[in-house]
Amino acid sequence: MNDRKVRVRFAPSPTGPLHIGGVRTALYNYLFAKQNGGDFIFRLEDTDSNRFVEGAEEYILESFRWLGIKFDEGVSFGGNYGPYRQSERREIYKKYVKILLDADKAYIAFDTPEELDKKRAEIENFQYDASTRLSMRNSLSMPAEEVQALIDGGHKYVVRFKIEPGEKVVVNDIIRGVVTIDSSILDDKVLYKSADELPTYHLANIVDDHLMEVTHVIRGEEWLPSAPLHVLLYRAFGWEDTMPAFAHLSLLLKPEGNGKLSKRDGDKLGFPVFPLEWKDPATGAISSGYRESGYLPEAVVNFLALLGWNPGDDVEMMDVEELIKKFDLTHCSKAGARFDYKKMIWFNHEYIIKKSDEEVAEMFAPVVESHGVSVDAATLTKIVSLMKGRVNFVHELWEASNFYFIAPESYDEKTVKKRWKADSAVKMTELAALLESLDDFSIENQEKEVKAWIESKEYSLGEIMNAFRLALVGEGKGPQMFDISGIIGKEETLARLKKAVEVLG
Ligand code: GLU
Repeated sequence: MNDRKVRVRFAPSPTGPLHIGGVRTALYNYLFAKQNGGDFIFRLEDTDSNRFVEGAEEYILESFRWLGIKFDEGVSFGGNYGPYRQSERREIYKKYVKILLDADKAYIAFDTPEELDKKRAEIENFQYDASTRLSMRNSLSMPAEEVQALIDGGHKYVVRFKIEPGEKVVVNDIIRGVVTIDSSILDDKVLYKSADELPTYHLANIVDDHLMEVTHVIRGEEWLPSAPLHVLLYRAFGWEDTMPAFAHLSLLLKPEGNGKLSKRDGDKLGFPVFPLEWKDPATGAISSGYRESGYLPEAVVNFLALLGWNPGDDVEMMDVEELIKKFDLTHCSKAGARFDYKKMIWFNHEYIIKKSDEEVAEMFAPVVESHGVSVDAATLTKIVSLMKGRVNFVHELWEASNFYFIAPESYDEKTVKKRWKADSAVKMTELAALLESLDDFSIENQEKEVKAWIESKEYSLGEIMNAFRLALVGEGKGPQMFDISGIIGKEETLARLKKAVEVLG
């Protein structure tokens, strides 16, 4: 077992957009694969045609492309273990169903849904298992000829796993330790349905993990109840020696209150629960995504990595390379992880600061353009360098810095009351004259000359700067004054001063 190459898989069912919990599962698989020099497989578990949703496969792939989570093989990537879509592996599953039937480890059952409902109504807590199966319509209770006749007659049937009662089933989980159960509590799960000639999740999942030589099954807590059944299936096939190790990750919990994180929490508190925006093909309803909401993929990855694991020190900012180095599956928490979306916003803020000004300016440029403003890259980069520390999202840079591009059309009333004094118009006119006389309009020179003028006139620095800001920005916000006038330039600075004097008097 130890000398096997690490191979893990992410195996979603294409039933809709990928939930953020699924993204974390994939990320942990990816980190684990990379740190062990292993392979990461993308398998599509699409055997339940009733739940198939158009576009889900492409959505999932696009999500991982955006996040920078890379697969080594699988659907759309190729590889030596394909096909990787379960719907294309029917013949393989049929072969393994037959193996179980021939070994008397599975049986054929004809009970209709109505018959099963009737039983459930008759018997309290009815379970299809060793205690009831002989009273049902199946190949264990019926003569072989009758079974064959029904099959030949085209009757629909299922294949059920024949679970022997009273067996000890041990699930060895990397995160949760050893869980032992008695096989008597399990029911004879359906493994295959003749109606669509497809296996159920359980059979396909085990057969594929085996054939694809998966070494570790890292998945969400919701699959923990299936694990004993999976162990028994490995046993039934005689594959115990190469059975993958299990690691069931903790649940993602609501940001506040109790219970599992849901889409409603996101809607209520204003954060997405999907990586990309999703348009429901049936209803047309749109759900927000992290990408479209302005989150950086690095921030999402960093945040998710720390939901249920931490490196044991106080370091929080970690890029993928560092995460690959430090991630430790054995130290993942089995307690649920509260989805602190405010922390994710904090990460976004930190990653904007960490990015180069040029890069953020490039991301900001289309936003500026969408407001009908054109500005050269160097100026935009300068503005970004002054403003990026003040925002959580790149698009917020517009609100924070639009005064660089557009002269104020009105002046904030409160600020006017507080900052525009009876003599402000006179002083701003003097300031305009001084600035007009400057040949060197650099930030440094403006600062030097203006301060000297204030001193010589014995004006108050605060008073001048407040009125100056109101004239240039229209309100009380923004960086250092000369970082504003220096960037918008002499002509624009003078025009704005003149207008403020005219309007505010
Ligand atoms: N198809 C399952 C899912 O949608 C896979 C669970 C597993 O990883 O075994 O998550």
